[in-house]
Amino acid sequence: MRTAAEWKAYYSTEEFQKKFLYDGRDLGATCTEEGTSFLLWSPAADSVTLNLYRSGDEGEAFERIPMRQRQQGVWEWCVEEELHGIYYDFTLKMDGETIRSADPYAKACGLNGRRSMAVNLRKTDPEGWAQDQAPEKPRENIIYELHVKEFSWDASGGFPEKYRGKYKAFTCQDTTLYQDGIHPTGIRYLQELGVTYVQLMPSYDYGSVNEDGDPEEFNWGYDPVNYNVPEGSYATDSRHGEVRIREMKEMIQALHQAGFRVIMDVVYNHTYSLDSWFQRTAPWYFYRVNQDGKASNGSACGNDFASERAMCGKYILESVLYWTEEYHIDGFRFDLMGLLDVELMNQIRRSLDIKYGKGEKILFGEPWAAQETAMESRAVPALKKNLSLLDKNVGIFCDNTRDAIKGSSVHIEERGFVSGRSGLEEDIFESAAAWCVRSTKGQTQEMPEAKAPSQIVTYVSSHDNQTLWDKLTDTVSLQERMRINRMTAALYMTCQGTLFFLSGEEFARTKNGHDNTYNAPISLNRLDWEQAYRERELVKFYQGLIGLRKQLPGLCDKSESANRRFSRITKKNGIVSYMLDNEKKGENSRWKNLFVIYNSKRRTEQIPLPGVEWELLCDAKRSDLWKAPARVAKRVSVEPISVLVLGQTENGQEEREQNL
Ligand code: CA
Repeated sequence: MRTAAEWKAYYSTEEFQKKFLYDGRDLGATCTEEGTSFLLWSPAADSVTLNLYRSGDEGEAFERIPMRQRQQGVWEWCVEEELHGIYYDFTLKMDGETIRSADPYAKACGLNGRRSMAVNLRKTDPEGWAQDQAPEKPRENIIYELHVKEFSWDASGGFPEKYRGKYKAFTCQDTTLYQDGIHPTGIRYLQELGVTYVQLMPSYDYGSVNEDGDPEEFNWGYDPVNYNVPEGSYATDSRHGEVRIREMKEMIQALHQAGFRVIMDVVYNHTYSLDSWFQRTAPWYFYRVNQDGKASNGSACGNDFASERAMCGKYILESVLYWTEEYHIDGFRFDLMGLLDVELMNQIRRSLDIKYGKGEKILFGEPWAAQETAMESRAVPALKKNLSLLDKNVGIFCDNTRDAIKGSSVHIEERGFVSGRSGLEEDIFESAAAWCVRSTKGQTQEMPEAKAPSQIVTYVSSHDNQTLWDKLTDTVSLQERMRINRMTAALYMTCQGTLFFLSGEEFARTKNGHDNTYNAPISLNRLDWEQAYRERELVKFYQGLIGLRKQLPGLCDKSESANRRFSRITKKNGIVSYMLDNEKKGENSRWKNLFVIYNSKRRTEQIPLPGVEWELLCDAKRSDLWKAPARVAKRVSVEPISVLVLGQTENGQEEREQNL
């Protein structure tokens, strides 16, 4: 076999670029009532045989068919027969070796994704699928990060036994705590909470969990095997390839019906193993290679997908489009987006905009990589420092905001603004305005300014690192810890970026201090619905904040001019406050202006108010004051470690103007 460096040289030749790049969209198996076609891109193969099987994991091939070589490195076999439910793989002869591979372009597969399956996708549609539609675009993106298995695994959730940990659990709309018929869990709970997007952690086929193994096996799933096929361990039957497809669609349909849009977490930056279907059918084409001839490892998972290469970029783009078309996915969260290239991200943005309308599908990602990567040619990585090159509607997780508010995620003992660290006032204001992601602690070497709040995802918890509750250990009492948690929530929920949080943050979710539970037992990772009940006061606080946020168009403004809404800004001595123009054309709100105060001090502060009269919308303990607001005038006292949100009605403003 040729070495990685030799393959790389071969793919870089002009001859290869001219002769072997394929531009069709029909790779993989396409199966309808009229017939079935199999197309594989394998430019260096000497011959390819298609093997057909009755089962996805057992028995020998019942037919072995030599495939015909076409132009552009494509091998093909077609038949006027609907081979729905037939499993297949390929035997390739290349460089004197014989290689078995499943289909990197597969849309269905058998157990553990080992063999691919021909599927007539229309036969996998649940009833009413053609009419399935996402709910109308919400006024604010409030994203709830959820793992399919964590959601319904715990017995306290009251889900039917056979659906626990499965896609199907999402179709149960009326679950209650231990089935007590009183306290909502699951979907109904999320509706009451008020989030607008559910983000599913990786739900394509991944490799770290045996689909036929112990049902307790758990992994986050950041180890893709078949990018265009749902994961099998979440299906009620992982052996029959059509079941996981239908059940994933049922889940999305149920979420749409319940009023949520659905985001998928996608990990196009690497594959479970370097010995993947990509590698077996086109050695080293899909992976980056270092100067020393070894696999690039910017993902810290053993390999990096070469997004900047034509057929890789095309693969990722078409995969994204496939998930939107076939599964009605409403947005994507790109894992280690910093390993992908800017041009590809912008191309994905453009393609989705053309097809679905500008900004209709939400796109964002992690603007970093785990390590250095060997990106080729002049490609520019989608890192934070290149934010200005990304489309206005490609967002990034803002780690600066995260760390300024609660303290470093890496250095656990480091405090943030809410835990009393001084000197972060400027960072906190920038977090609120979501327009600049300057490094914290006064380091200014990289100061990419966001074009608009649409580029910023504001968050303080995600599956990575400690949960918010676990991070806030350095407190004098449980009471103070709870107070800091409330302040943290109120602070980031009054920032202009897209709001994002890890499921359970709202009920003080704990993982006992563990900061990386990707393969920890499900008993540590599962959502504990009993705790959601125990911490219902905190849940109620989040509910109130979310309810308030949806009525504040000034904070929801994601446009380039959003930062012009700020005035009367104070940033000193542990206090940040600002006034915000809350009027937006075409959107009604009771309040023309907002006044927001963040008091991180350990004592009560008296703050003078501009104008005469304000309504109290949220304070240290209650975030639902806006439902029947009390009035305050001239000055207001702000409790220690708390956020105060005030609103000014038209009358209040008139009085103010008279008094000026
Ligand atoms: Ca799997």
